[in-house]
Amino acid sequence: MNTPYRITPYPQRTLKREKTTLSNGSSDNSKEPVKVFCRIRPLKEDEDTSCILLVSPTVLSLNTPSDPKYPSQRQLHCQFNQIFTSYATQKEVFDFVAMPLLQDLLKGKNALLLSYGVTGSGKTYTLSGEPNNPGIMPRCIDTLFNTIDEFQAPKFMIKPDKMNGFEIQAENDAVKDRLFENRANAKTLSKQSKKGSGDQLHYINDEIRIKDIDENNLYAVFVSYIEIYNNTVFDLLDESNGKPLQSKILREDAQKNMYVNGVVEIEVKSADEAFEILNSGQKRKRMGHTLLNSESSRSHSVFNIRLVQVEQIAHNSEGDPMVPDSNIIKVSQLSLVDLAGSERTNRTQTTGMRLKEAGRINNSLMCLRNCLEVLRENQVTKCNKIVPYRDSRLTFLFKNFFEGYGKVEMIVCVNPSCLDYDENLQVMKFAEMTQDVKIKKPENRDTPYMRKTVKKINTPMSTTKVKSNSSFSLPKIPSFLFDVENLTEMGVTIDQIAKALKLRGSKMETNYSEYNNKVKHFRKRLCDLNEGNILNLSEIKSMKTIIKKGKQESYNLKNKIVDLETVNDSLSAKNQELQEVIRSLRCINDEKDLKINQKILEKERAKQKFAMANEKMSQELENKLRKQREHLQATMKAKENKLKKVKQILESDDPLLSQEDVETPDYDPQHTPPTTILKETQTPSKRNIQTPSARHRRSRSAGEVWLEHNSIKPIPLGTVLQPCVKKRKSLTKLTKASDITNPKQSKYCLIAQDQDTEGEIETKVYKGDIVSTCGGGAQVIFNDVELLKQKSPTESP
Ligand code: ADP
Ligand code: MG
Repeated sequence: MNTPYRITPYPQRTLKREKTTLSNGSSDNSKEPVKVFCRIRPLKEDEDTSCILLVSPTVLSLNTPSDPKYPSQRQLHCQFNQIFTSYATQKEVFDFVAMPLLQDLLKGKNALLLSYGVTGSGKTYTLSGEPNNPGIMPRCIDTLFNTIDEFQAPKFMIKPDKMNGFEIQAENDAVKDRLFENRANAKTLSKQSKKGSGDQLHYINDEIRIKDIDENNLYAVFVSYIEIYNNTVFDLLDESNGKPLQSKILREDAQKNMYVNGVVEIEVKSADEAFEILNSGQKRKRMGHTLLNSESSRSHSVFNIRLVQVEQIAHNSEGDPMVPDSNIIKVSQLSLVDLAGSERTNRTQTTGMRLKEAGRINNSLMCLRNCLEVLRENQVTKCNKIVPYRDSRLTFLFKNFFEGYGKVEMIVCVNPSCLDYDENLQVMKFAEMTQDVKIKKPENRDTPYMRKTVKKINTPMSTTKVKSNSSFSLPKIPSFLFDVENLTEMGVTIDQIAKALKLRGSKMETNYSEYNNKVKHFRKRLCDLNEGNILNLSEIKSMKTIIKKGKQESYNLKNKIVDLETVNDSLSAKNQELQEVIRSLRCINDEKDLKINQKILEKERAKQKFAMANEKMSQELENKLRKQREHLQATMKAKENKLKKVKQILESDDPLLSQEDVETPDYDPQHTPPTTILKETQTPSKRNIQTPSARHRRSRSAGEVWLEHNSIKPIPLGTVLQPCVKKRKSLTKLTKASDITNPKQSKYCLIAQDQDTEGEIETKVYKGDIVSTCGGGAQVIFNDVELLKQKSPTESP
């Protein structure tokens, strides 16, 4: 059963969409919502039931099928800009949806038309249609060429610059390109005739044309056809000679518009030419899918029509045709996109590779959905969330349209079958969401979209398309003049003949004067041009000298730079060497410093040691000296006493007294210190009598053991006379009591060295007896000092 409503005639497009719950209601004139149309295809089989009912030309209701699968019955109302039922013809859809976009295209505005829906819902039917029932695409091409036919620019006058822009070619280049194309066409035609004619697509032409176009412009149409499959872009017009199609990358042009890099853009001069190209692209698409064993329903195909407008070749004051300035090239684009089936993966029994493809397709449609959602969110919440255009090639390619580059419209195709209810529910939700998205209107919508190009040519040009305003044409020769013999029969009077000839004559005269004028103008123009040329030449000459000078200067500077660089190199090498030397010297210096510090430290330590030893020694010596002095004083006293006694004896006459006194000198080891033996000098005696001390006379046992005490190391003096100490034990320090209490030792001597008043070294040997004490210890009783003194033999006594 088909949908029960048929909407004819279609209302005007001034229909306004009712506010949705998501619209924020703010009237932002700089934005307009995406227009979404719905096309319902006829049911496939008569027994199939529809789940869609038309409520009004813009509202439909989606009803849950009466199937146990769906427990509750629901009705979902969906609103569109316009709903086309199964009765709607291709022409009606084109007139309502595509015609305004085509009008915009001719005004220099861009548009993107997407067809959305599950596989088999009629997307391709709506866009491409069938030869006897053409869809939007062929109708657009037909209408476009019907409209611009007589205002087309000569072929190859406008050329794509391969950077998404266009440039104007010089006439001779355009002619060359045309010749080349003719030859290539001849070759392919001969090949085709040999092979047999290809299956050409011929669409019915409704001869529709848009009236109000700018007739001062020249128009050129360029088409490109691409496919996005598995998130990869392929150029369907790429002459791959049977090889698999190469993937293309997306680029941004100077105006930040996205385009397919290196895409083939073909200039078409007629609808048939365009259909041929469309057909070849579709063939390539089919071939590609057969080769890859893939499904074309899973790919997005994009057919781009780019209309380039340049101002009609202007005439200068002298009436010469001029090629317009490239800067006033106006480019507009209409992209017709046949999207992949929107069905979810589980709808078709896809496995393995196919599943992956389905996932990818869903991904790119999902990305489109995400982008629209973010756009909607941004406009509702007034935030500025990043729209994820880059997530898929599809959204990235059309990113500019969503940012105000042109209008975005969508035809949602639905199969009303109850079997498609689930999918249709998803499609309706997507459609509802899309309609909530408002897209920025292109800036300066009233002024045409301008695109700057690189080349700028402004040369006079003669072209076949230039409308001839020439007034050199003569009035037609009256037909009666061709039949002179029957003039009278025809009733032609001489006056009539004269009038006709006069008219021709006067016209010839005006032509002649006009011609003369034009020649004059042309000559003047030539002179002007020549003058300009001369000026240009002189300017070029001066520029050349400046450039030459500049070049010379730059050459000199370069040389200087080279010289300076070499100097710099050698200096830096020297510097490096010196740095090296400095470094090594620093190392040596550091080592020496370290050694010096060590030596200073050692010296300090030695000084301290020496000072300590010195102090100790001087203390010891002081003590000894004190004792010695005391001892000497006591000796002197004893001697004096003795002398006194000797004197008394000598003075008295009692020999006994004198004998006794002389022989037994009173010797008290405690009080009378031993006499010092002066080895080098004799103590002078009054009577020159040697009186040996009692201790020298004492008998000595041969087994006496001496304890020799050297407090310091004696200075080696090379002394010949040595104290007679046969058995001895030497030590430098008395540390233990056992050193002195040893019963074998009976004698003790302390050897000390010192300087006398004349600076001579004198060695003193203090001698004594070791006497055991009752407490078990020992004591030394000093009884003698030996003095060993050296004198220089040259010194006077
Ligand atoms: P899609 O491209 O969405 O996968 P198609 O455009 O290939 O679907 O349509 C599938 C079939 O349905 C085609 O045979 C087509 O002729 C037919 N069809 C689709 N829409 C319509 C329509 N509005 N009127 C008549 N036939 C249609
Ligand atoms: Mg299709």
